[in-house]
Amino acid sequence: MTGSSTDHMLKVTWSNSTGWGVPEIVPYAPLALDPAAAVLHYANECFEGMKAYRNKRTGKIRVFRPDLNAKRLNMSADRIALPSFDNDEFVALLCAFAGVEERWLAWSGNSTISESDENDFLYLRPMMIGTTPRLGLAKPNDAMLLIIASKLPSWHTRPLRVLASSPEESVRAWPGGFGFAKVGANYGPTLQYQTRAASLGYDQVLWLFDVEKQYVTEAGGANFFVVWRTEDGGVELVTAPLETGTVLNGVTRRSVIELVRERMPEVSVIERQFTIAEIVAAVDSWRIIEAFTCGTAYFIAPVGEIGVSGRDVKIPLKAEGKSGEYARTVRRWLEEIMYGEIDHAWGVAV
Ligand code: PMP
Repeated sequence: MTGSSTDHMLKVTWSNSTGWGVPEIVPYAPLALDPAAAVLHYANECFEGMKAYRNKRTGKIRVFRPDLNAKRLNMSADRIALPSFDNDEFVALLCAFAGVEERWLAWSGNSTISESDENDFLYLRPMMIGTTPRLGLAKPNDAMLLIIASKLPSWHTRPLRVLASSPEESVRAWPGGFGFAKVGANYGPTLQYQTRAASLGYDQVLWLFDVEKQYVTEAGGANFFVVWRTEDGGVELVTAPLETGTVLNGVTRRSVIELVRERMPEVSVIERQFTIAEIVAAVDSWRIIEAFTCGTAYFIAPVGEIGVSGRDVKIPLKAEGKSGEYARTVRRWLEEIMYGEIDHAWGVAV
């Protein structure tokens, strides 16, 4: 993702003795941090990522299931020894901030930002850091919650090429670790492998786990789904389970699972460990239907190829070679809610 920040940020500080202070929306500016601040040494940092969507007809801005981001922020903060923040207050602050920055998103009813496109997004990035200036390794006594925003161009729809990782060389997460939390420490260390995948022409790394079993976990900053026909002819939508603690509980993942369970009773939605060999076998026996990644940043992104041990395994794409039918259908269902084309509790007006 690219995009530069908007001109405000939301900031609220915490100390162990006085709790959270009064939140402020202030002009966007660099932070003054003590060089001994906990975050700079022990990675006490967690973050969230969400988007504000504008309804083109009414101009109204919505955020999608922000209560889930609030809960996940607190879960991540707990894992990295940072304080919790009230869920409802977090959602209220997020909406207030999105309301201030929404003018960065063009709309025909708002012609002030002429260079933007009506399909652009406002990406919201809440984060929490430990700021206690102390080199001793201990839970921080001071923290800061910030929300910044950036304007992003609309998502691309080109099918992705993903590279299945080699668990001998690198894993993203492991049982007993922190792969389930959205902490910065999960991301920086993946960039070396991601850069190598990019130099080979792949968009994302499909992270496998376990040298022998080679379980499929997730793809870069997104969850991963495969749709296949079983030996006895049923259709399954399969994704890695959360119980292993190695996969992020994505808001989009959860929403896809809930909508397909509710609206496509003919499809079995299955959260279980599955291997890259199962995908290759489904491709080789023509049982594969499609695969896609899902997450806030690139939304529902069809996967067209998976690089597995030197072979590019082709995944079918219907709909003019751009997307499979399942990915297209869930994308449409989600868009209706996100943009407020239909009234739904998941689309929260700002
Ligand atoms: N997995 C990882 C590792 C991620 O960073 C993200 C992005 N937050 C996701 C999955 C997708 O989560 P969400 O749908 O909440 O954006």
